[in-house]
Amino acid sequence: MAQAGMIHTVRGLVDPAVLGRTLAHEHVICDFYRVTGNLNHLLNDEDLAVAELDVLGGVGATGLVEVTTPDFGRDPAKLRRVAERTGLHIVMGTGWYRQPYYPESIDRTPTEALARQMIAELTQGVDGTETCAGIIGEIGAHGSSLTAQEERVLRAAARAQRATGATLTTPASMYPVGVEQLAILREEGVDPSRVIIGHCDTYLDREYHLAVLRAGAYVQFDTVGRVHMNPDERRADALVALLRAGWTERLLLSSDRCHRSDLKAFGGAGYDVVFTRFFDMLNARGISPAELDIMTIENPRRVLAW
Ligand SMILES: [Zn+2]
Repeated sequence: MAQAGMIHTVRGLVDPAVLGRTLAHEHVICDFYRVTGNLNHLLNDEDLAVAELDVLGGVGATGLVEVTTPDFGRDPAKLRRVAERTGLHIVMGTGWYRQPYYPESIDRTPTEALARQMIAELTQGVDGTETCAGIIGEIGAHGSSLTAQEERVLRAAARAQRATGATLTTPASMYPVGVEQLAILREEGVDPSRVIIGHCDTYLDREYHLAVLRAGAYVQFDTVGRVHMNPDERRADALVALLRAGWTERLLLSSDRCHRSDLKAFGGAGYDVVFTRFFDMLNARGISPAELDIMTIENPRRVLAW
């Protein structure tokens, strides 16, 4: 079922050329609530998801990467139905999210077996169906460095990456922990050009971003619209600095919608915030439509194809 050069979506294999604007790190169905106890952190309403995603058609977006892992409330059947009802190309994640979310079984499962579980989800299907995951992640870190379990999950993910050719996507949130993630992945022999370091815009430090880029990985600004972490004006300034330094082909954008308050139904900015408010900020800073297309069309096509 797996095929090199193709993008693996919940509705099957897709030629990269058919992808329009694509969000590289989103959630449609997810559950932080079971760990945080905050009901704002639960997205489990399929009809609501379909209604919220409707805005994407109007801005030329044809798909998104849904990086919810099973320990974070992934629901492949719902995702597949949402993809069918909206016509979007949805790439589904596999793996384990970060320490507080891990099932107890992680500690009793050898690294190789963790890798095998991911490989099976990427190549054979999930939950007894033929729906396959199309990306590894989001594989994260909870704090400023990886816990022992997080390191082991990341090493397993690296082995799944090498076995399949699928992209590996991380969140490195609020700390420059992406450098540590990359070092481990390189130790495991992963080609950095198959790695996305996510949440880079939660830690706006130019030297950090350049360290990730120089190592050959993608820098992802994927919390656009999450103004309690950083104002979008600061995000735009940091992104423009990287564009001006010539890194356009290694940058990805998204908005990590995962709270009810992120959705338009609850007064949030919704799934189109990258293409509306944030694009306006980039336009005002002199970024060209061609550069926006590279970050949101060409780069996703390249990085998502196995
Ligand atoms: Zn996320």
